Amino acid sequence: MKTKQFKAESKRLLEMMIHSIYTHKEIFLRELISNASDAMDKIYYKALTDETMTFDKEAYKITIEPNKETRQLILRDTGIGMTKEELEENLGTIAKSGSLAFKAENESKDGHDIIGQFGVGFYSAFMVADTVTVVTKPFGSDVAYKWESHGIDGYTIEEVDKETVGTDITLHIKANEEEENYDEYLEPYRLRSIIKKYSDFIRYPIEMEETEQRPVEGSDETEDVTVMKTVNSMIPIWRKNKRELTDEDYVNFYQEKRYGFDTPVKHIHISADGAVRYQSILFIPEQPSFDYYSKEFEKGLELYANGVLIMEKCSDLLPDHFSFVKGMVDSEDLSLNISREMLQHDRQLKLIAKNIQSKIKTQLEALLRDDREKYETFYQAFGRQLKFGIYNDYGMHKDSVKELVLFHSAKEKKLVTLAEYVAAMPEEQKYIYYASGESTDRLDKLPQSELVKDKGFDILYFTEEIDEFAIQMLLNYDGKEFKSVTSSDLGIEQTDQAETTETQVEMFTAMQDVLAGQVKEVKASSRLKSHPVCFATDGAVSIEMEKILKAMPNNQDVAAVKILELNTSHDVFKAIEAAYAADRPKFERYTKLMYQQALLMEGLPIEDPVAFANEVCALMV
Ligand code: ADP
Repeated sequence: MKTKQFKAESKRLLEMMIHSIYTHKEIFLRELISNASDAMDKIYYKALTDETMTFDKEAYKITIEPNKETRQLILRDTGIGMTKEELEENLGTIAKSGSLAFKAENESKDGHDIIGQFGVGFYSAFMVADTVTVVTKPFGSDVAYKWESHGIDGYTIEEVDKETVGTDITLHIKANEEEENYDEYLEPYRLRSIIKKYSDFIRYPIEMEETEQRPVEGSDETEDVTVMKTVNSMIPIWRKNKRELTDEDYVNFYQEKRYGFDTPVKHIHISADGAVRYQSILFIPEQPSFDYYSKEFEKGLELYANGVLIMEKCSDLLPDHFSFVKGMVDSEDLSLNISREMLQHDRQLKLIAKNIQSKIKTQLEALLRDDREKYETFYQAFGRQLKFGIYNDYGMHKDSVKELVLFHSAKEKKLVTLAEYVAAMPEEQKYIYYASGESTDRLDKLPQSELVKDKGFDILYFTEEIDEFAIQMLLNYDGKEFKSVTSSDLGIEQTDQAETTETQVEMFTAMQDVLAGQVKEVKASSRLKSHPVCFATDGAVSIEMEKILKAMPNNQDVAAVKILELNTSHDVFKAIEAAYAADRPKFERYTKLMYQQALLMEGLPIEDPVAFANEVCALMV
């Protein structure tokens, strides 16, 4: 029989599993039970919706058989099984797993990270077994197959006999090593405790043989009898009473369901009994999944109709701005046979979605209020999505999200909400000031902020591309408009402003001529304190937006309307004035230099850097 090779990336993952020093090896059982449960969901769903199939609820179960003599641990399920192609596809490659590509960038030798972050499903069996054998008979077929692998060298597939539909997985448990006790995975009590810990909520019975002592009839003696016992409680967690559940129960459920491999910052357990009846458990993750900010990411919640999984990712249940939420919804009011298309128009589902959305909003607000640190961890991961939420759909959802966004405050040197910013505004401050740029460090040095800071007004720092766009969608907060510190009109009254002389006005016009087409105006600055020059902008497009828009196709001609502002009390200004009076060519060179310096400070490219460097050199000799 020919041994087939694993695909390259599966091989790497396998290698990590085999040599793993991961301390939670026990999770292999959770992974295999979870696969078995999924396989039974698939056949159970078929049986419920296909009239030609007979339906025997008793038939759906998982059996666990440890055997110390042979060192075998067998898991049997009566699920949908796998065809030969599916065996190849599912167990020969790591199906739909972008995790390895991600892993390459976050290398760690023992595979700890990858297990911690993604879980690895079936392959985790190799953490505890040196040989894995899968015998499976797919639904609707007479043929069964045996897949076997001793690890890295590859796997074999052959046809075998198997009576019933479903899958048997046999693990040949590794021999004990110096620091690793594998025997425990053959101990019934240990296995029972692992099942209780991770898989208690599985809806199908997980059965194991147990030896009981029974009195022998007619005598005082007892005898050992082996009986099959169901290990798990089988009551889905969402049907349980909140008060009986611990945080750990929810975290275990989250991980058992593979919603994520982080520890969620919050869970929301809803049991609604009003216009629409449903139960739901939702989680706010701590970390985004590796594909969260990519096109491949699909939002959605698991949808159950009265306990039966009918859809793995029901996207209609979650708005985009809360797309990071994981979890499930179970409703007695939904029909099992509902199609995806019908579901979209289902009144009940719309009600549930609306309800869920407002619950998420209030719970996030509560987290922000009650546990700022946790909220900021969450915000670090998903704040960007919330800000997109303000901007998307023409601002339709802005009211759901605006209390949830945070920005860095120049004064407080930490993240603040818009409400906090506004509450701290002095009476005379008319606007909510913001500055956009690459980093808070850079923004701290922005010349344009000098006047605003001098006045004692706080500035919100926008360091993400979406920020300014989101804020423009918001228009104002609590009646206060947003104002960029680079805006030509800052709305700040100034009393100590020196009058501009007639000659200066003439000079500004002359400078404007030199910079024709590049700036709209040259004028005396009221905002600069120590810097000689800066740009202000007129209109809706700021310099940061110009940069972002220009980086996109079809936006090449978008430009901020720039005003060159000069600090009239700066020595450099005096030098320009002197040149204007005595030396026109020098005056023109100075004008261009001022303009180029303003460009550089904004992080904008200058047209001819070599000429600029030569000019600066010329000034030095
Ligand atoms: P995941 O479950 O995350 O997709 P796994 O490596 O655990 O990744 O499993 C890969 C695929 O193999 C599953 O998606 C499923 O299609 C199939 N599979 C695994 N175990 C079983 C099983 N017991 N019965 C039927 N199919 C299975």
